[in-house]
Amino acid sequence: MERLILLGLAPVFLACIAAEAWYYRKRSPDNYSLVDTLANAGLALMHQASDAVAWTLLIGLFYLVYQHRLFELPPASVWTVLALVIGQDFFYYWFHRASHRIRWLWASHVTHHSSERLNLSTAFRQSFTYPISGMWVFWLPLAWLGFRPANIVAVVAINLAFQFFVHTQAIGRLGWLEAVINTPSNHRVHHARNPRYIDRNYAGVLMIWDRLFGTFVPEDAAVACEYGIVGQIHSFNPLTLTFHEWRAMFADAARASGLRQRLQQLCCPPERTLSRLKPT
Ligand SMILES: [Zn+2]
Ligand SMILES: [Zn+2]
Repeated sequence: MERLILLGLAPVFLACIAAEAWYYRKRSPDNYSLVDTLANAGLALMHQASDAVAWTLLIGLFYLVYQHRLFELPPASVWTVLALVIGQDFFYYWFHRASHRIRWLWASHVTHHSSERLNLSTAFRQSFTYPISGMWVFWLPLAWLGFRPANIVAVVAINLAFQFFVHTQAIGRLGWLEAVINTPSNHRVHHARNPRYIDRNYAGVLMIWDRLFGTFVPEDAAVACEYGIVGQIHSFNPLTLTFHEWRAMFADAARASGLRQRLQQLCCPPERTLSRLKPT
């Protein structure tokens, strides 16, 4: 099901990328680079493959948890669907926030942030190591609450599909919508590494989570977004983009002294890593 959602939308995604690249070709040709877009496309294909394998392996676990569900929810009810969409978006917020503050998760998520450009093709830039980091753990409570695992998988894909459209610089601020949903402006802030913007606007669809939990920052016309990560990686090789933080993390864990400090290197926030504090 979820394969069909993303595969079915693939022509729409590709058409939007082509239209955006065409729009920029004279206005701001630097917004697109062929090698950057090809790296993003390669990463998208690897991510889709690993996602398919992961769900095949994990769906049984989700059904096991579902058997012990807390609530009996009517599957065909519009309220159940609405609760699942909002509930999954809530857990997405916490998955995303944890992905920026816990290195084991950041090792996967950094791939999405490592481009110095931001365009619709950046949405394709995903790591195939998410299942190893344990992204799926964040969806397990939904099965326990009583949502059918097949529907959870579908809603995870729909949330991701929505987020494709917020990866653009071609759309300005959208008035009152900025306060309610994730918009291109809100997500530009999320991809910026400026001190004012870093680790803000984690929302998938609903911006209300950032406003509730104190991580919302609106885009400021006076502070232009500087895209990428604190230590820019300057690579277009999908394997380098996938594994650079994993490698740095295990190297830091190896050179830390004592078990406690080694474990700390696996779960500390990015600014407290040895490679950041004491570069070799
Ligand atoms: Zn992020
Ligand atoms: Zn993004």
